[in-house]
Amino acid sequence: MDKKVMRNISYGLFILTARDGDKLNGCVTNTLQQVTTSPNRISITVNKENYTHDMVLKAGEFNVSILSEDAKFDTFKHFGFQTGRDIDKFEDFPMVLAKNDIPYITDGTNGYISAKVIHSIDLGSHTLFLADVTDGEVLSSVPSATYDYYHKNIKESPDEKSKGWVCKICSYVHPHEDLPADFICPLCKHPASDFEKL
Ligand code: FE
Repeated sequence: MDKKVMRNISYGLFILTARDGDKLNGCVTNTLQQVTTSPNRISITVNKENYTHDMVLKAGEFNVSILSEDAKFDTFKHFGFQTGRDIDKFEDFPMVLAKNDIPYITDGTNGYISAKVIHSIDLGSHTLFLADVTDGEVLSSVPSATYDYYHKNIKESPDEKSKGWVCKICSYVHPHEDLPADFICPLCKHPASDFEKL
């Protein structure tokens, strides 16, 4: 089969946020969808490599902020290119606490949804969370950013002087001569086979 056909599926882009005690964290995801209207339910699939994954699994609650076309590449880098295991992603980043005490992002987003996990399914590399929507607000009228829009308009191409390997999916640059065979892109979690040499 032509695996490229999978890239023609349309996706939105979101910041998934969670709380574990005093620790707040968030990551970028493209796997949110509403699955039923009544009851109002969503599903979200999260890579187990993400620290936010463990927090959602433990707390059973999360928010998703819906990224809009005015979102900055910096926001993707902030939530996607570094891990909350090493840094506090909310130390300097503007956010608002929703009623569930979990942050949502107001910069470059057009809404947020709060949800409570009712079921989780172990998919091996990922966990699929099924959740009841408990709250949500529209924040702006700017259209939602699709994954395709991100590729064409938001992500920055690596500059000429960049050396190493670039992820063909999200443009993350691995700034080293060698790319380990088991390397996983820290932003989009795609494997080494989706990287090309700069
Ligand atoms: Fe990537």
